[in-house]
Amino acid sequence: MDRYEPEQIEPKWQRVWKEARAFNVPNPAPGEPLDDRRWYQLEMLPYPSANSLHMGHVFNYTMGDVVTHFHRRNGARVLRPMGWDAFGLPAENAAIREGGHPREITERSIVNIREQMQRLGWAIDWDREVSSHDPRFYKWTQWLFLRFFERGLAYRKEAPVNWCPNDQTVIANEYVVDGHCERCGALIELRNMTQWFFKTTAYADELREFELPPGGEWPEKTKTIQRNWIGRSEGAEILFRVDELDIDVPVFTTRPDTLFGATFFVVAPEHPFVEAHASDEAKDYAKHAGAKRTEERAAETEKTGVFTGLYATNPVNGERLP
Ligand SMILES: [Zn+2]
Repeated sequence: MDRYEPEQIEPKWQRVWKEARAFNVPNPAPGEPLDDRRWYQLEMLPYPSANSLHMGHVFNYTMGDVVTHFHRRNGARVLRPMGWDAFGLPAENAAIREGGHPREITERSIVNIREQMQRLGWAIDWDREVSSHDPRFYKWTQWLFLRFFERGLAYRKEAPVNWCPNDQTVIANEYVVDGHCERCGALIELRNMTQWFFKTTAYADELREFELPPGGEWPEKTKTIQRNWIGRSEGAEILFRVDELDIDVPVFTTRPDTLFGATFFVVAPEHPFVEAHASDEAKDYAKHAGAKRTEERAAETEKTGVFTGLYATNPVNGERLP
Protein backbone atom coordinates (compact mmCIF):
# COMPACT_ATOMS: atom_id res chain seq x y z
CA MET A 1 0.00 0.00 0.00
CA ASP A 2 1.57 3.25 -1.12
CA ARG A 3 -1.12 5.60 0.00
CA TYR A 4 -3.89 5.56 2.55
CA GLU A 5 -7.11 5.59 0.51
CA PRO A 6 -9.90 6.08 3.04
CA GLU A 7 -12.66 5.62 0.43
CA GLN A 8 -11.50 2.05 -0.18
CA ILE A 9 -9.93 0.96 3.09
CA GLU A 10 -12.49 2.24 5.58
CA PRO A 11 -15.71 0.84 4.07
CA LYS A 12 -13.96 -2.50 3.65
CA TRP A 13 -12.97 -2.81 7.31
CA GLN A 14 -16.25 -1.41 8.54
CA ARG A 15 -17.97 -4.19 6.59
CA VAL A 16 -15.63 -6.82 8.02
CA TRP A 17 -16.25 -5.60 11.60
CA LYS A 18 -19.99 -5.55 11.01
CA GLU A 19 -20.10 -9.06 9.56
CA ALA A 20 -17.87 -10.44 12.32
CA ARG A 21 -19.95 -8.58 14.95
CA ALA A 22 -16.56 -7.51 16.27
CA PHE A 23 -17.82 -5.16 18.99
CA ASN A 24 -20.86 -7.16 20.02
CA VAL A 25 -20.84 -8.33 23.65
CA PRO A 26 -23.44 -11.00 24.43
CA ASN A 27 -24.86 -11.37 27.93
CA PRO A 28 -23.19 -14.11 29.97
CA ALA A 29 -25.06 -17.40 29.78
CA PRO A 30 -27.01 -18.32 32.95
CA GLY A 31 -24.56 -19.61 35.53
CA GLU A 32 -21.53 -18.53 33.51
CA PRO A 33 -18.91 -17.00 35.85
CA LEU A 34 -18.29 -13.27 35.39
CA ASP A 35 -15.20 -12.34 33.46
CA ASP A 36 -12.64 -10.71 35.80
CA ARG A 37 -11.37 -8.48 33.06
CA ARG A 38 -14.68 -6.93 32.10
CA TRP A 39 -14.94 -3.22 31.33
CA TYR A 40 -17.94 -0.96 30.85
CA GLN A 41 -17.26 2.01 28.60
CA LEU A 42 -19.71 4.90 28.38
CA GLU A 43 -18.68 8.46 27.56
CA MET A 44 -22.14 9.98 27.40
CA LEU A 45 -25.32 9.67 25.38
CA PRO A 46 -25.40 12.57 22.91
CA TYR A 47 -28.38 14.82 22.22
CA PRO A 48 -29.61 14.05 18.70
CA SER A 49 -30.74 17.68 18.44
CA ALA A 50 -28.61 18.51 15.43
CA ASN A 51 -28.52 16.60 12.21
CA SER A 52 -24.87 15.74 12.57
CA LEU A 53 -22.00 15.20 14.99
CA HIS A 54 -19.82 18.17 15.88
CA MET A 55 -16.06 18.13 16.53
CA GLY A 56 -16.63 17.94 20.30
CA HIS A 57 -18.38 14.59 19.78
CA VAL A 58 -15.55 13.32 17.58
CA PHE A 59 -13.01 14.32 20.24
CA ASN A 60 -15.00 12.78 23.09
CA TYR A 61 -15.86 9.44 21.46
CA THR A 62 -12.42 9.03 19.92
CA MET A 63 -10.94 9.19 23.43
CA GLY A 64 -13.50 6.59 24.51
CA ASP A 65 -12.50 4.50 21.51
CA VAL A 66 -8.84 4.58 22.55
CA VAL A 67 -9.77 3.37 26.04
CA THR A 68 -12.02 0.69 24.55
CA HIS A 69 -9.29 -0.69 22.29
CA PHE A 70 -6.73 -0.53 25.10
CA HIS A 71 -8.89 -2.78 27.28
CA ARG A 72 -9.82 -5.06 24.38
CA ARG A 73 -6.14 -5.54 23.56
CA ASN A 74 -5.51 -6.36 27.20
CA GLY A 75 -8.02 -9.17 26.99
CA ALA A 76 -10.98 -7.50 28.68
CA ARG A 77 -14.56 -8.07 27.62
CA VAL A 78 -15.53 -4.46 26.81
CA LEU A 79 -19.18 -3.47 26.70
CA ARG A 80 -19.69 -0.13 25.02
CA PRO A 81 -23.31 0.81 24.34
CA MET A 82 -24.66 3.90 22.60
CA GLY A 83 -27.83 5.87 23.05
CA TRP A 84 -29.63 9.13 22.54
CA ASP A 85 -30.57 11.72 25.13
CA ALA A 86 -33.55 12.69 23.02
CA PHE A 87 -35.95 14.52 25.36
CA GLY A 88 -36.00 18.13 26.45
CA LEU A 89 -35.21 21.60 25.29
CA PRO A 90 -32.59 20.71 22.62
CA ALA A 91 -35.14 18.51 20.79
CA GLU A 92 -37.83 21.15 21.21
CA ASN A 93 -35.54 23.88 19.86
CA ALA A 94 -34.55 21.70 16.88
CA ALA A 95 -38.23 21.09 16.09
CA ILE A 96 -38.98 24.83 16.24
CA ARG A 97 -35.93 25.62 14.10
CA GLU A 98 -36.67 23.04 11.42
CA GLY A 99 -40.45 22.92 11.70
CA GLY A 100 -41.90 19.49 12.36
CA HIS A 101 -42.72 17.00 15.09
CA PRO A 102 -39.88 16.67 17.62
CA ARG A 103 -40.03 12.87 17.35
CA GLU A 104 -39.64 12.81 13.56
CA ILE A 105 -36.79 15.33 13.61
CA THR A 106 -35.09 13.49 16.46
CA GLU A 107 -35.33 10.12 14.72
CA ARG A 108 -34.05 11.52 11.45
CA SER A 109 -31.05 12.99 13.31
CA ILE A 110 -30.40 9.66 15.01
CA VAL A 111 -30.18 7.88 11.64
CA ASN A 112 -27.62 10.43 10.39
CA ILE A 113 -25.54 10.51 13.54
CA ARG A 114 -25.48 6.71 13.84
CA GLU A 115 -24.21 6.48 10.27
CA GLN A 116 -21.47 9.03 11.02
CA MET A 117 -20.43 7.10 14.13
CA GLN A 118 -20.24 3.89 12.09
CA ARG A 119 -18.18 5.62 9.41
CA LEU A 120 -15.77 6.84 12.09
CA GLY A 121 -15.29 3.16 12.93
CA TRP A 122 -15.89 3.50 16.66
CA ALA A 123 -16.04 0.20 18.53
CA ILE A 124 -19.67 0.32 19.67
CA ASP A 125 -22.05 -2.56 20.31
CA TRP A 126 -24.99 -1.44 18.15
CA ASP A 127 -27.18 -4.18 19.60
CA ARG A 128 -27.14 -2.12 22.79
CA GLU A 129 -28.59 1.12 21.57
CA VAL A 130 -31.19 2.99 23.64
CA SER A 131 -33.23 6.15 23.12
CA SER A 132 -34.64 8.17 26.00
CA HIS A 133 -37.78 9.02 23.99
CA ASP A 134 -38.55 5.34 23.34
CA PRO A 135 -41.38 4.02 25.58
CA ARG A 136 -39.37 0.81 26.09
CA PHE A 137 -36.70 2.98 27.71
CA TYR A 138 -38.70 5.64 29.54
CA LYS A 139 -41.04 3.16 31.19
CA TRP A 140 -37.99 2.36 33.36
CA THR A 141 -37.35 6.04 34.05
CA GLN A 142 -40.96 6.26 35.22
CA TRP A 143 -40.61 3.08 37.26
CA LEU A 144 -37.53 4.52 39.00
CA PHE A 145 -39.29 7.83 39.63
CA LEU A 146 -42.17 6.05 41.36
CA ARG A 147 -39.74 4.18 43.63
CA PHE A 148 -38.12 7.54 44.58
CA PHE A 149 -41.55 9.05 45.16
CA GLU A 150 -42.69 6.20 47.41
CA ARG A 151 -39.62 6.70 49.60
CA GLY A 152 -40.07 10.46 49.85
CA LEU A 153 -36.97 11.10 47.73
CA ALA A 154 -38.96 12.88 45.00
CA TYR A 155 -41.06 15.81 46.16
CA ARG A 156 -42.60 19.05 44.97
CA LYS A 157 -41.97 22.53 46.26
CA GLU A 158 -41.96 26.12 45.09
CA ALA A 159 -38.63 27.27 43.75
CA PRO A 160 -37.36 30.07 41.52
CA VAL A 161 -36.98 29.25 37.83
CA ASN A 162 -35.77 31.19 34.80
CA TRP A 163 -38.85 32.31 32.92
CA CYS A 164 -38.84 33.65 29.37
CA PRO A 165 -41.83 36.03 29.06
CA ASN A 166 -41.67 35.80 25.26
CA ASP A 167 -41.53 32.01 24.86
CA GLN A 168 -43.77 31.50 27.92
CA THR A 169 -41.55 28.70 29.13
CA VAL A 170 -38.99 27.77 31.76
CA ILE A 171 -35.38 27.99 30.55
CA ALA A 172 -32.54 25.85 31.94
CA ASN A 173 -29.57 27.74 33.45
CA GLU A 174 -27.43 26.61 30.51
CA TYR A 175 -29.68 28.47 28.07
CA VAL A 176 -29.61 31.78 29.88
CA VAL A 177 -26.85 33.90 28.39
CA ASP A 178 -26.02 37.14 30.20
CA GLY A 179 -29.49 37.16 31.71
CA HIS A 180 -31.13 36.73 28.29
CA CYS A 181 -32.96 33.83 26.64
CA GLU A 182 -30.66 31.98 24.25
CA ARG A 183 -33.61 31.13 22.01
CA CYS A 184 -35.21 34.56 21.51
CA GLY A 185 -33.00 37.07 23.31
CA ALA A 186 -35.68 38.29 25.72
CA LEU A 187 -34.70 39.36 29.23
CA ILE A 188 -35.16 36.38 31.56
CA GLU A 189 -37.21 36.80 34.74
CA LEU A 190 -37.06 34.87 37.94
CA ARG A 191 -40.38 33.26 38.88
CA ASN A 192 -41.47 31.04 41.70
CA MET A 193 -43.12 27.87 40.41
CA THR A 194 -43.94 24.46 41.83
CA GLN A 195 -41.37 21.95 40.64
CA TRP A 196 -40.19 18.40 41.24
CA PHE A 197 -37.00 17.80 43.20
CA PHE A 198 -34.87 14.82 44.15
CA LYS A 199 -33.70 14.79 47.73
CA THR A 200 -30.03 14.29 46.87
CA THR A 201 -29.03 16.01 50.12
CA ALA A 202 -30.13 12.85 51.97
CA TYR A 203 -27.00 11.23 50.55
CA ALA A 204 -24.58 14.16 50.87
CA ASP A 205 -22.57 12.77 53.79
CA GLU A 206 -22.44 9.28 52.31
CA LEU A 207 -21.33 10.67 48.94
CA ARG A 208 -18.56 12.77 50.44
CA GLU A 209 -17.19 9.76 52.33
CA PHE A 210 -17.40 7.49 49.29
CA GLU A 211 -14.04 6.23 48.05
CA LEU A 212 -13.70 4.65 44.63
CA PRO A 213 -12.06 1.21 44.54
CA PRO A 214 -8.44 1.02 43.32
CA GLY A 215 -8.20 1.60 39.58
CA GLY A 216 -11.05 4.08 39.65
CA GLU A 217 -9.22 7.07 41.14
CA TRP A 218 -10.01 10.57 40.00
CA PRO A 219 -7.58 13.49 40.04
CA GLU A 220 -7.61 15.41 43.34
CA LYS A 221 -8.87 18.52 41.50
CA THR A 222 -11.95 16.68 40.22
CA LYS A 223 -12.64 15.27 43.68
CA THR A 224 -12.46 18.76 45.22
CA ILE A 225 -14.96 20.09 42.67
CA GLN A 226 -17.32 17.21 43.45
CA ARG A 227 -16.96 17.68 47.22
CA ASN A 228 -17.79 21.38 46.92
CA TRP A 229 -20.72 20.58 44.68
CA ILE A 230 -22.14 18.03 47.13
CA GLY A 231 -21.74 20.66 49.80
CA ARG A 232 -20.83 20.71 53.44
CA SER A 233 -23.45 19.91 55.99
CA GLU A 234 -21.49 20.91 59.10
CA GLY A 235 -21.76 24.47 60.25
CA ALA A 236 -23.98 26.75 62.26
CA GLU A 237 -27.26 28.49 61.63
CA ILE A 238 -27.23 31.99 63.07
CA LEU A 239 -30.19 34.36 63.33
CA PHE A 240 -29.91 37.99 62.25
CA ARG A 241 -32.67 40.22 63.63
CA VAL A 242 -34.49 42.68 61.37
CA ASP A 243 -36.13 45.00 63.92
CA GLU A 244 -38.24 46.97 61.43
CA LEU A 245 -40.01 43.76 60.36
CA ASP A 246 -39.83 41.99 63.71
CA ILE A 247 -38.37 38.85 62.09
CA ASP A 248 -35.19 36.78 62.31
CA VAL A 249 -33.40 35.77 59.12
CA PRO A 250 -31.39 32.53 59.47
CA VAL A 251 -27.89 32.42 57.99
CA PHE A 252 -25.89 29.23 57.47
CA THR A 253 -22.14 29.44 57.84
CA THR A 254 -19.28 26.96 58.03
CA ARG A 255 -17.14 29.70 59.63
CA PRO A 256 -19.05 31.33 62.53
CA ASP A 257 -15.72 32.80 63.75
CA THR A 258 -15.76 35.26 60.83
CA LEU A 259 -19.06 36.89 61.91
CA PHE A 260 -17.26 39.69 63.76
CA GLY A 261 -15.97 41.02 60.44
CA ALA A 262 -19.42 41.30 58.79
CA THR A 263 -19.99 44.70 57.14
CA PHE A 264 -23.22 44.19 55.18
CA PHE A 265 -26.10 41.74 54.90
CA VAL A 266 -27.11 40.38 51.50
CA VAL A 267 -30.00 38.16 50.49
CA ALA A 268 -29.83 36.27 47.20
CA PRO A 269 -32.28 37.47 44.53
CA GLU A 270 -34.19 34.16 44.72
CA HIS A 271 -34.58 34.32 48.52
CA PRO A 272 -38.28 34.34 49.61
CA PHE A 273 -37.42 37.41 51.74
CA VAL A 274 -37.24 39.50 48.54
CA GLU A 275 -40.79 38.67 47.49
CA ALA A 276 -42.10 39.24 51.02
CA HIS A 277 -40.29 42.37 52.19
CA ALA A 278 -38.25 44.13 49.53
CA SER A 279 -39.12 47.42 47.81
CA ASP A 280 -40.41 47.41 44.21
CA GLU A 281 -37.01 48.62 43.04
CA ALA A 282 -35.25 45.72 44.79
CA LYS A 283 -37.80 43.21 43.46
CA ASP A 284 -37.27 44.44 39.93
CA TYR A 285 -33.51 44.11 40.36
CA ALA A 286 -33.90 40.59 41.82
CA LYS A 287 -36.10 39.45 38.93
CA HIS A 288 -33.26 39.97 36.46
CA ALA A 289 -30.18 39.47 38.62
CA GLY A 290 -31.53 36.12 39.77
CA ALA A 291 -31.78 34.87 36.21
CA LYS A 292 -28.01 34.98 35.80
CA ARG A 293 -26.20 31.70 36.20
CA THR A 294 -24.67 31.03 39.60
CA GLU A 295 -21.22 30.69 38.00
CA GLU A 296 -21.76 33.93 36.12
CA ARG A 297 -22.73 35.68 39.33
CA ALA A 298 -19.75 34.26 41.21
CA ALA A 299 -17.35 35.31 38.44
CA GLU A 300 -18.49 38.94 38.41
CA THR A 301 -15.72 40.93 40.05
CA GLU A 302 -18.01 43.86 40.72
CA LYS A 303 -20.84 42.75 42.97
CA THR A 304 -24.11 44.54 42.33
CA GLY A 305 -27.17 44.95 44.51
CA VAL A 306 -29.93 47.24 45.68
CA PHE A 307 -30.36 48.57 49.22
CA THR A 308 -33.58 47.20 50.72
CA GLY A 309 -33.83 50.09 53.18
CA LEU A 310 -33.62 47.59 56.03
CA TYR A 311 -30.99 46.77 58.64
CA ALA A 312 -30.08 43.43 60.20
CA THR A 313 -28.50 43.15 63.62
CA ASN A 314 -25.33 41.08 63.89
CA PRO A 315 -26.01 38.78 66.87
CA VAL A 316 -22.36 38.57 67.93
CA ASN A 317 -21.72 42.30 68.44
CA GLY A 318 -25.09 44.05 68.04
CA GLU A 319 -23.91 46.04 65.01
CA ARG A 320 -26.60 47.17 62.56
CA LEU A 321 -25.76 46.07 59.01
CA PRO A 322 -27.36 47.62 55.89
ZN1 LIG B 1 -37.17 33.29 24.91
